[in-house]
Amino acid sequence: MKYELPQLPYAIDALEPVISQKTIEFHHGKHHQTYVTNLNNLIAGTEFENSTLDEIVKKSDGAIFNNAAQVWNHTFYFLSFSPGGGGSPKGKLADAIDKTWGSFENFQKEFNTAATTLFGSGWAWLAKDSVGVLSIVKESNAGNPLTKGLSPILTFDVWEHAYYLDYQNRRADYLAALWNLIDWDVVSARY
Ligand code: MN
Repeated sequence: MKYELPQLPYAIDALEPVISQKTIEFHHGKHHQTYVTNLNNLIAGTEFENSTLDEIVKKSDGAIFNNAAQVWNHTFYFLSFSPGGGGSPKGKLADAIDKTWGSFENFQKEFNTAATTLFGSGWAWLAKDSVGVLSIVKESNAGNPLTKGLSPILTFDVWEHAYYLDYQNRRADYLAALWNLIDWDVVSARY
């Protein structure tokens, strides 16, 4: 199977000022594209050549895992945003967040803490288990909760390439602003 860079459901400047056109050009156009290209080259002639992306993420390791998971993670990340985003979760996801963390605001605080304190490069995740119990998961590098039997609901990329052009070293400022882009229709439907 040949993977392709997913099209973004918004214009490259539509997420400004939270995520600049320049960052989208590099992060989606260069970094995400490179993971796709690497993955296609790496799986050619291997047992993963005809696997789904989920299967590769769950079963591979090393370079194939790193590139497959980065394709998965970035696609999930970029498809969580809308220029008209922000606000709060909806429906069953809103209820589950309230049940687990007391309020959406408290969940955001916990999520921001996880993402801020993740050392080095990685991803902060909201994920659910097989019976719908929510948790915040910190993953280094290309890590993805699928490998722990969990289903991802939301992720924030905390690799420096996600925010350095717009926020330099201010990861917390990037995280605080990112909530204004979340498309809760899309994200709530994942629960
Ligand atoms: Mn990234």
